[in-house]
Amino acid sequence: MLDADFFHRWMAAAAALVSREADHLTDLDSAIGDADHGSNMQRGFAAVTAVLDKEPPQTPGAVLALAGRQLISTVGGASGPLYGTLLRRTGKALGDAPAVTPQQLAEAFGAGVAAVAQLGGAQAGDKTMLDALLPAAEALGTSFGAARDAAEEGARATVPMQARKGRASYLGERSIGHQDPGATSSALLVAALADTVAADGSGS
Ligand code: ADP
Ligand code: MG
Repeated sequence: MLDADFFHRWMAAAAALVSREADHLTDLDSAIGDADHGSNMQRGFAAVTAVLDKEPPQTPGAVLALAGRQLISTVGGASGPLYGTLLRRTGKALGDAPAVTPQQLAEAFGAGVAAVAQLGGAQAGDKTMLDALLPAAEALGTSFGAARDAAEEGARATVPMQARKGRASYLGERSIGHQDPGATSSALLVAALADTVAADGSGS
């Protein structure tokens, strides 16, 4: 079972990975955007860990809801509301159970990803974070490791795509040949989840 502390550790692992990869995310965003994705994500997840450390919520759903609210209020740009919605909606789907099964998390994450698609109006193949999140949500029903692999593969698959949503879409065909920053950070979020499971074996 995955308890509130597990979700707290997932967010901390995500913050560490995003911080380590911030320059890379910003480089990707400088190619097809405005070079702020690394700093946006770093600022947002630093704020998430700060609030979770200060007032640790008691349930998995409350951890994700608080993290999502924090991302919405600290990250400007497109990615703040989208990531905030992902975590809030996933948290809402988990309800107020003190601990959840990996299968419940997989279903809730699917609901969170669907909410991102609804908010941003994007679908698979539009070269956005959804190209990592959709395959990850699907694979999460199998295992955390499969979800990590699917997200990384999904992020890599954005390279030959032409962006149809967000700032990169303004570039038209010139967006082709670059990996999408949001899909790349989404793969980090899923990798942090798999790392957290591997660190304590709570997913097995
Ligand atoms: P901004 O584009 O406002 O500068 P960021 O640089 O932080 O915001 O985030 C850019 C990322 O947001 C993109 O790489 C893409 O993955 C994601 N994104 C942008 N618009 C959408 C959308 N409509 N739906 C899903 N993801 C989107
Ligand atoms: Mg940007």
